[in-house]
Amino acid sequence: MMECDEARDLLDAYADNALELAEAARLNRHLQGCAACRAELDAIRGLGHALRAQAPYHRAPDALRQRVRAALPQVAAAPLPARPARRGGRAGGWAVQAWANLGMAVVAACALALAAGLWLQRPTAQGLLAQQIVASHVRALLSGRPVDVISTDEHTVKPWFNGRLDYAPPVVDLAPQGFALLGGRVDYVDARRVAVLIYRAGGHPIDLYLFPTTDAAAAPQTRSDDGYALATWVAGGMRYWAITDAEPAVLKRFVRGSTAASP
Ligand SMILES: [Zn+2]
Repeated sequence: MMECDEARDLLDAYADNALELAEAARLNRHLQGCAACRAELDAIRGLGHALRAQAPYHRAPDALRQRVRAALPQVAAAPLPARPARRGGRAGGWAVQAWANLGMAVVAACALALAAGLWLQRPTAQGLLAQQIVASHVRALLSGRPVDVISTDEHTVKPWFNGRLDYAPPVVDLAPQGFALLGGRVDYVDARRVAVLIYRAGGHPIDLYLFPTTDAAAAPQTRSDDGYALATWVAGGMRYWAITDAEPAVLKRFVRGSTAASP
């Protein structure tokens, strides 16, 4: 019987129809009985589809690609370590998974950065920022470390950013609106460190990026594409970006709650 660890290692090749027939058949049997691996396969196919559908038409400028590469962990560029012997039990399994996730994150970040159809067809400032937000969001999810400080209490999360950023992000409690705070992290967007608040909407995380701006206050604009819903607005000298793979209607509710509760 194939186990999930082995199945996960083969999913990429399976999605590319690159497996030997016998191995594909074994994996197929596993997939029939394992919803988690099926979901993983769907995610891999979704990324591939997004890349194929968008890449030929919306090529990101070189500057953006270089920025995405620069923002990726250096370790991702190093060669993958040899795969440990499968018979050796689970030892090393997590390490291999971590490497696989990093490789996947690189692919996903580049794929999504290149899939520039998300916000605007032409590379305007907002369009480029949207691509970076998507890449950052996906990178965080695939890194297995989407939340740096885990707390449902805004009074814990807000001071955590002290010393990590050159500004103090407002942290609002949206639990009454049905969006529990999960925590926060610092991410790298538009060549600077920015605060990200992570909220939960049902089973989906919503990342809220916020950083100071000189832009005039602007009402929320929302957009959804490729399985992601995005919104951006300016209030109180802060530019906000919210992104989620939840339904666009859920994001709109989140944005309404967030703009109503913000200072
Ligand atoms: Zn499985």
